[in-house]
Amino acid sequence: MRDLLTATLRHALDYLDAASETPVAARASLVELRQRFHGPLPDGATDPVAVVDALVRNVEGGLNASTSGRFFAWVIGGHLPAALAADWLASTWDQNAGMFAVAPAAAIAEEAAGAWLLDLLGLPDDSAFAFVTGCQMAHVTCLAAARHRVLARYGWDAERDGLYGAPPITILTGDQRHGSIERALHFLGMGTKHVHDLPTADDGQLKPDVLAAALEDTEGPTIVLLQAGDLNTGSFDPYNDLIPLARDYGAWTHVDGAFGLWAQTSPEHRHLLDGVDQADSWAVDGHKWLNVPYDAGYAVVADREALFHAMSHRAAYLAHSDDARDPIDWTPEYSRRARGFPTWAAVKSLGRNGIGDMVAACCHAARAIVDGAGKLPNVAVMARPIINQGLLRFLDPAPGATAADHDRRTDEVTAAIRASGEACFACTTWRGTRVMRVSVSDWRTGDNEVRRTIAAIKKASTWPR
Ligand SMILES: *Cc1c(COP(=O)(O)O)cnc(C)c1O
Repeated sequence: MRDLLTATLRHALDYLDAASETPVAARASLVELRQRFHGPLPDGATDPVAVVDALVRNVEGGLNASTSGRFFAWVIGGHLPAALAADWLASTWDQNAGMFAVAPAAAIAEEAAGAWLLDLLGLPDDSAFAFVTGCQMAHVTCLAAARHRVLARYGWDAERDGLYGAPPITILTGDQRHGSIERALHFLGMGTKHVHDLPTADDGQLKPDVLAAALEDTEGPTIVLLQAGDLNTGSFDPYNDLIPLARDYGAWTHVDGAFGLWAQTSPEHRHLLDGVDQADSWAVDGHKWLNVPYDAGYAVVADREALFHAMSHRAAYLAHSDDARDPIDWTPEYSRRARGFPTWAAVKSLGRNGIGDMVAACCHAARAIVDGAGKLPNVAVMARPIINQGLLRFLDPAPGATAADHDRRTDEVTAAIRASGEACFACTTWRGTRVMRVSVSDWRTGDNEVRRTIAAIKKASTWPR
C-alpha cells in the first residue's frame, strides 16, 4: 500500500504541477485512446503500481486541463485543495454513507455540510436536503418531492398509487431551461408533453405577465420551473414577482440554480437572487462553482415532509437512527459515496467570505475576458456577463459576409483557440446564432490567466482565413 499510494501521490503532484503549462484541451484522438485502453481481458494479475503507471500513461493527452484556470468550456469548475484531499480520503475510508449506523462520521459530516450550505445559499434553515451526484439528480430528487406534494393536493398518493390514472401535472418553464430538467421529468414519468416552454424576454427572464397568463390557462397540479443563472447568459428570473404568483395558483416552484445560486455568497451579486428563498425547491451543484471534485450536487426542499415521503425507505435489516439523519431517507440512492466529506472540507477551507470572494473573482474574470476580447476587431459581445457567463461571436471580415459565414468563423476561431493549447472554450447555438461561451468557474482563474486568454483569443481571431 505505502509504495503504491506514494507513487500515486507523485503522479497526482506531477499532473497538478504540469496542468498550468500543458495544453488546456485534450488532444489525444479517439483511435489513440482506444488503442491504449482496449485489449484482451487479462486472465491474470498485474502489480498495482504497474497498473497505476499504465493508467497514467494511457490518459496522456486525453485529459482536459479543467483545473488549470484557463478552461472555460461548459461550466466545469476545478477543485479546491482541501476538497480534493477530502475526496481522496472519502475513497480511502470507503464508507457506505446511506445510514448513520453504517457510516456514522460520514452521516454527520453531511448533516453539518448541509446546514452550512443552507446558510451560504440563503435558503430556509429548516429545509430538507440531499447530497446527490449532480444537478441532474438534484432535479430528480426535488421534482419527486414536487410530484408528491402537487398530487397530494388532488388527493393522490404518487408513491402508493403511481401515476396510473393520476391527474396530469403541468410544468410551466422558461424556454431557456437546461436539458437536465427534461430528463428528470422523463425519469419521474411526467413526460415532456406536459411541459409548456414559455417565451423568455431578451434579458433572459420569464416575465410575470407571461407566467400569469399561463397559470390562468392551466388546470390541475402544476409545477413552475425557474432559472437562477441561465446556462448561456447567467440571467436570473424575477423571483419576487413570479414565486408568489405561482403560490397563489397552488403551484410548486422549483429553481434550477446549478451554478447561479452561488451568486448568493457574493455581496456584490446577491441582489440577483432577491426572493429566491420563497421557492419550494432548489437544485445546485458543488462540483461546478464550489470547486468540489465531481460527484457533488445538492437538492434542497423546503417541504421536508414531501421529500421524506418521496424518498424514505424502511427495511427490516436496516438500522434506522432515531436521532441522527439517515441520508437514505432523503436521497434516491441506497449505497452511496460519502459525499459530505469533500463538501464539508471545501466550505471549511474557504469559509463564507472566501467562497464569496471566489465567486466574485470568477465573475470579474468573465467580464474581463469578454470586455477584453470585445475590443478586438471582428469580435462581437453577444452577452456581457451578469455573473460568470458571457457570449462572444467572431465575425468573418470578408466583404458581404453573411450570418452563416459568421457562424462558421465562430466555430473556426473557437477551434483555433483550443488548438493553441492556451485556453479552451466551446460553442453553442443561442437564439439561432453560433456563439462561443465564456464560462469562468475555477478558483485558479486570476489576472495572469485572463491576460493569456485574451492574447490567445486575439491571435486566433486575427488568423488569416
Ligand atoms: C450543469 C447544469 C445542470 C446539470 O448539472 P449536472 O451537475 O451536470 O448534473 C443543470 N442546470 C444547469 C443550469 C447547469 O448548468
